[in-house]
Amino acid sequence: MRDLLLEIGSHPVGRRVLKALPLPVPEALRRARGPMVERPLAERSVLLMALGETTQCAALGEALVAAGASVFAGEGVDPGALAAAAEAWARPVRSAAEAPSRVDAVVLDATGVTEVAELVAVRARLSARVAGGIQRSGRVLVVGRPVAAQRDATAAAVQAGLEGFVRSLAKELGRHGTTVNLVRVAPGAEGALAGPLRWLLGPRSAFVTAQPVEVQPAPRAGRWVRPFAGRVVVVTGAARGIGEATARRFAEEGATVVGVDRPDDAAALGALCRALGGVAVAVDLTAPGAAERVAESVAALGGVDVVVHNAGVTRDRTFARLDAARWDAVFAINLSAVIALQDALTPLLRPGARVIALSSIAGLAGNVGQTAYAASKAAVVGLVRGWSAALEARGASAHAVAPGFIETRLTAAIPVAIREVARRLSALGQGGLPVDVAEAIVFLATPDAAGLRGGVLRVCGGALVGA
Ligand code: NAD
Repeated sequence: MRDLLLEIGSHPVGRRVLKALPLPVPEALRRARGPMVERPLAERSVLLMALGETTQCAALGEALVAAGASVFAGEGVDPGALAAAAEAWARPVRSAAEAPSRVDAVVLDATGVTEVAELVAVRARLSARVAGGIQRSGRVLVVGRPVAAQRDATAAAVQAGLEGFVRSLAKELGRHGTTVNLVRVAPGAEGALAGPLRWLLGPRSAFVTAQPVEVQPAPRAGRWVRPFAGRVVVVTGAARGIGEATARRFAEEGATVVGVDRPDDAAALGALCRALGGVAVAVDLTAPGAAERVAESVAALGGVDVVVHNAGVTRDRTFARLDAARWDAVFAINLSAVIALQDALTPLLRPGARVIALSSIAGLAGNVGQTAYAASKAAVVGLVRGWSAALEARGASAHAVAPGFIETRLTAAIPVAIREVARRLSALGQGGLPVDVAEAIVFLATPDAAGLRGGVLRVCGGALVGA
């Protein structure tokens, strides 16, 4: 579905015309092309700053320099803490005075923020930079600690406060295409920061903003490049939309994709899977025996490393007008079929497997006309939590991804006026693309995300509605 405002706004003349009108002009987001690379932050300038008595600048500097970034040590950062990384990667870490007038990213290490005065100091540290010192489609990343890990109530309060700050700043900077996120790193998990840092500061997280992400200790065993070579990935609902984009991205990273979709979509599914060198399974996932058919194909490949439960439907009506057929259909595909398929695939999971299920911000926040859909999508979050313990015992993990407004057939079905409003009601002022959700799913499935467990990652452009 074309976004005319975005298209017109990407041309300088069109942008000038739009600016003269009382219309928001969304920024065309910078996205990644092609497979993952060893140094995703090459050519990117990152200003690192810190607040608080203790910092994690050595770990952050190491991750940034290793990812290819040009790092500038700003206020609160002891350059000595970055010396080892600079030496190991033979890249100088320069002072903030040498930074370009507009950097690509600002990282604020707030792991040592435990006092109110330190939270108050966030303004002094960041405001000059934020007022015009960051490139368009830039990044602001605050690194804090999990609230529950704090030694006292004041420390818990100021760490919690960082989330409100990040969510609000994200909504202010979104019109420049800039994202603002919070990574909460558990004590001892600094070694697991590199993956989330590379992803959140790079172009693959273009539609993820205003989000807190928690990182727990985890060993990282895997490659940055072609991380899915030799891996088997099941994607349901692969014929179009988010599922198709996800199947394409996994194949691009070396995976053998087992694509599943309804028999009505067998032609599109078959063409895609042939093009990707994968396997097509054309079944209606609500039909008896469907899960077993998928499991047979997976067993023939020797097991599965990633399962993406993406197939889903909406049947929107306000609750009073919602008939049983619509209500039942939503639960049959969005929930019962997911449970049945996972039950059939769990015995076939290989060590280190990831299970990723599509929720929705409607499921987190609720939405008019979506009682069934929201219930089914909130249930998916519960399902992921419920699966986690059993999966973790097998060395696997489960995650939910909650998209906001994404330009697909599903959202094309929304009446035009509501669709236009839904698109604009986000920090970034536009709908996301299927590939934005695909990037989040692929990231969660990589070894880079080993420290992220059992949570919900929103890919919503900072939707103004919802949690
Ligand atoms: P889509 O309609 O473009 O694609 C969904 C795919 O699932 C289709 O190919 C469809 O044939 C398949 N499918 C549906 N029922 C099936 C069944 N019984 N058996 C097998 N396959 C079946 O939808 P999309 O926008 O790509 O959404 C993908 C997922 O993301 C869904 O779970 C959806 O709820 C979720 N989501 C989407 C958005 C959005 O804005 N597009 C927002 C939040 C959540």
